[in-house]
Amino acid sequence: MKLALMCRNAELYSHKRIVEAAEERGHEIEVVDHLRCYINITSLRPSVRYRGEDLPLFDAVIPRIGASVTFYGTAVLRQLEMMGCYPVNESVAISRSRDKLRSLQLLARRGIGLPVTVFAHRTSRADEILDMIGGAPVIIKLLEGTQGIGVVLGETQKGAESIIQAFGGVNTNILVQEFIKEAGGEDVRCIVLGDKVVASMKRKGKEGDFRSNIHRGGTAARVKITPQERATAVGAAKAMGLNFCGVDMLRSNHGPVVMEVNSSPGLEGMEKATGIDVAGQLVDFIEKNAKFGKTKTKGR
Ligand code: ADP
Ligand code: GLU
Repeated sequence: MKLALMCRNAELYSHKRIVEAAEERGHEIEVVDHLRCYINITSLRPSVRYRGEDLPLFDAVIPRIGASVTFYGTAVLRQLEMMGCYPVNESVAISRSRDKLRSLQLLARRGIGLPVTVFAHRTSRADEILDMIGGAPVIIKLLEGTQGIGVVLGETQKGAESIIQAFGGVNTNILVQEFIKEAGGEDVRCIVLGDKVVASMKRKGKEGDFRSNIHRGGTAARVKITPQERATAVGAAKAMGLNFCGVDMLRSNHGPVVMEVNSSPGLEGMEKATGIDVAGQLVDFIEKNAKFGKTKTKGR
């Protein structure tokens, strides 16, 4: 097959592994930096110019579009979809996954377990927001945050109210969420591929931190998940319309609750913690599923 890996930096662990896995299986794989692509919008003849030449018709595209370049990256991917290339994740599903509010709404509609959550723009009635959650302790997040930055714990009613009001002052959207204390600073990340969980790990935060992000100094280890966790991860991927994603869950006393679905899951932490060849399985999935014109962007 002729494959494209859409990414900005081919030297990242995840991207090197994907190229390696594709080549090991005898495929041709080209790295395409989406920000260097020119999108040619011509009636009925979509094409993409890259480094002086039109991109060929790839059998499949593996998009690895960073959150900060979602707009342009998904536009390039959409163009390739319109040409008939099979995308591992569709452009619309990637855009959807970049919007936390929209994602949680879609997951809720499908009955996926979630922490009790309230979104707000105006925060003058902080007491009412806290009432809706069932009172402190709560987690307060800025909608724009990533890697655990902009995630704070409001331990007491008074403390939570002032944090909510302080965030309201900077004119941003916030999310207030039931604090899953029993998770003990651990979360479970599953990599979903199609309708299967292919790898899962448990991440534990730095001592005394309720956040389990690796980037915040946490550690990771392979974990055996329950059938309910498996069903939740696969259901979350399906609700988002993603074939390949990372689903982050907390183990709450009302079952697994989904925090986030990541459409470009990192492979390094997962492969190192579990010893599972996720990149190889990704390429195997593409071999089985890539079909010309299968997508042409459904635009959902
Ligand atoms: P980011 O997307 O910035 O990584 P997250 O929403 O994933 O932020 O939160 C970071 C970490 O904080 C999570 O991995 C989890 O360990 C912890 N956390 C987030 N929300 C809650 C919650 N409602 N209850 C308990 N812990 C939480
Ligand atoms: N971004 C994640 C974190 O901060 C780690 C990378 C990944 O596993 O996707 O923990």
